[in-house]
Amino acid sequence: MPRATKRLDVVVVGAGIGGLATALALLKEGHRVRIYERAEELSEVGAGLQVSPNSTRVLEYLGVGEALAATGVRPERLESRDWEQGELLGTHEMNSEPLRYGAYHYLMRRADLLDALVSAVPAEVIHLGRTVVDIEQGDERAAIVLEGGERVEGDVVVGADGIHSTVSRLLFDVSKPRFSGTVAYRALLPAGDVQDLDLPNTSTKWWGPVVEHHLVHYYVSSLKTFNIIAVVPEEGWETESWTAKGEPEELVKAFADYADPIPELVRRAGTPLKWALHEREPLEKWSEGRFTLLGDSCHPMVPFLAQGAAMAIEDAVVLARALSKAEETGVEQALKVYETTRRSRTAHIQNQARSTPPTRGSSATGSTSTTP
Ligand SMILES: Cc1cc2nc3c(=O)[nH]c(=O)nc-3n(C[C@H](O)[C@H](O)[C@H](O)COP(=O)(O)OP(=O)(O)OC[C@H]3O[C@@H](n4cnc5c(N)ncnc54)[C@H](O)[C@@H]3O)c2cc1C
Repeated sequence: MPRATKRLDVVVVGAGIGGLATALALLKEGHRVRIYERAEELSEVGAGLQVSPNSTRVLEYLGVGEALAATGVRPERLESRDWEQGELLGTHEMNSEPLRYGAYHYLMRRADLLDALVSAVPAEVIHLGRTVVDIEQGDERAAIVLEGGERVEGDVVVGADGIHSTVSRLLFDVSKPRFSGTVAYRALLPAGDVQDLDLPNTSTKWWGPVVEHHLVHYYVSSLKTFNIIAVVPEEGWETESWTAKGEPEELVKAFADYADPIPELVRRAGTPLKWALHEREPLEKWSEGRFTLLGDSCHPMVPFLAQGAAMAIEDAVVLARALSKAEETGVEQALKVYETTRRSRTAHIQNQARSTPPTRGSSATGSTSTTP
């Protein structure tokens, strides 16, 4: 049931996980939403994502719980193992009843999560192939300027345009994100290709010789697909692209000394995707006038806590609720409430993600996972 007393006209830049969750949260509060996305089509590459209970709860509230359950895998537990001996260092029973955090921990293909969100957003909300190149701040309205010169106005503009956000650069002249010195190799393979390795339905993190060297594996897509994310320190390769490929031999060599079955598992990974990991210090400010930021545009982080998308999803509902008070408080004050409510939590998680978790295999953040 729509709750907002005054319907706001909100423009969202970017149709990633954050932008789509924001649209759903705003629609639920009764606002009008339009998303402008530069990609011609919405697609996600072969990679997995952990949807921890803090994000599952929000996604269920936003009406996509059934879609998550349709393909999302519920692991029996999260495991931490030592790289040299394969010794079990710790476990978390995430999905046994009664649920420890009140919602399931899912393991998903990114594409399945994106599909779930897109299916829930009315088609007319999403405008594809529209790149935002400029912004205009006004007392009564805010505007974005699209490539080609078209101008679109709204009561509020939300920059959910990712780690290289144009909106954050135009608003605050923020510096470029910093290369973390680590890269992630990612692979999805048919579960049948690893059947003989007898890998359990867990999310297992193999902690390497240093914290920046580790490997995580789990099943996704109704247990039909197996996902591997392997992180290694590597200077001099800073490409961030969902489609850049790594050399199979690099991956095999990097994990050759791990305990069984990891050397064999990475041999079966084929040609992995390779992604340089970037991050940023927490921003001082997210909002200015009628503009604000959300998700990776304001709090990008290394993925070692598997919380980047979860934070964007949490942002979405807090922003929508704050804006529903805008009639009483004014838009600028509502955006301040959103930012104040979210900034310390996201800054804490950004900082935790890059530092060594205090206890191997423990939940370092009050969230649920130390694995990407
Ligand atoms: C290896 C790896 C593993 C990860 N694992 C996890 C995990 O297990 N769990 C988890 O919660 N998080 C994980 N993350 C983090 C998560 O992927 C990100 O935090 C999340 O995708 C951010 O969503 P977003 O919507 O803020 O940004 P994005 O997904 O980057 O979306 C931004 C959108 O804005 C669009 N855009 C950009 N510029 C413009 C413009 N000028 N005009 C119009 N549109 C524009 C882009 O095309 C894009 O669609 C992982 C990240 C990595 C790299």
